[in-house]
Amino acid sequence: MNFKLPERRTKRICGVRINTVQRAGQRSLVRMASTRLPTTFGEFELIGFERANLDKGKTESALLLTLGDMHNRTPLVRIHSRCLTGEVLGSLRCDCQGQLELAMSAIADEGSGLVVYEYQEGRGIGLMAKLKAYALQDKGLDTVEANHALGFDTDCRDFSLAVAILREIGVDRVRLMSNNPQKVEALIQGGLEVVELVPCEAPPSPYALSYLRTKKEKMGHSLTMM
Ligand SMILES: [Zn+2]
Repeated sequence: MNFKLPERRTKRICGVRINTVQRAGQRSLVRMASTRLPTTFGEFELIGFERANLDKGKTESALLLTLGDMHNRTPLVRIHSRCLTGEVLGSLRCDCQGQLELAMSAIADEGSGLVVYEYQEGRGIGLMAKLKAYALQDKGLDTVEANHALGFDTDCRDFSLAVAILREIGVDRVRLMSNNPQKVEALIQGGLEVVELVPCEAPPSPYALSYLRTKKEKMGHSLTMM
């Protein structure tokens, strides 16, 4: 990674030296570790961040994958939510794995860019609730109806951690790889400028078509394949 992190204060907690990189109210963003990550798409730098979110009473984690020099251009950025079923188990019920691969491939092709990878499985409802939502979808509900039947909003994700990470590394303008208008809105609300919306459409599997159709029709995602 060739961009510079802002100057950090350091302190020692429990004998471990950490970098305190941001404080905002009760929240602090901490860079935990940074390492090389050669991938099938190219060699990224992988940085782990944590933030104690006292509002939620928990510690939030996210990964930042960066590649190349982003000083002279607005970076290509993907903010991606973890999908264990798609990315680890190879589920064809959604397009998450394809979107992540598309983003990493596009960044490698361009020679620079970054991915913020967040632990917000199932649009933020968590893995077990996502499985319950899948079970309801097996009975005929769509993804939005299933979330509502379980008492969740359509999309429970909070992109403030991604915004904090981007701002921390000095990124305030992005070319966002997404089909999701709510994600654009969240970044703008967080003070970032989205100068371009780059489509992130992976080839759909037949099993994902109804899910994608719901995302398009009920959630306003800009999808062209249907
Ligand atoms: Zn998925």
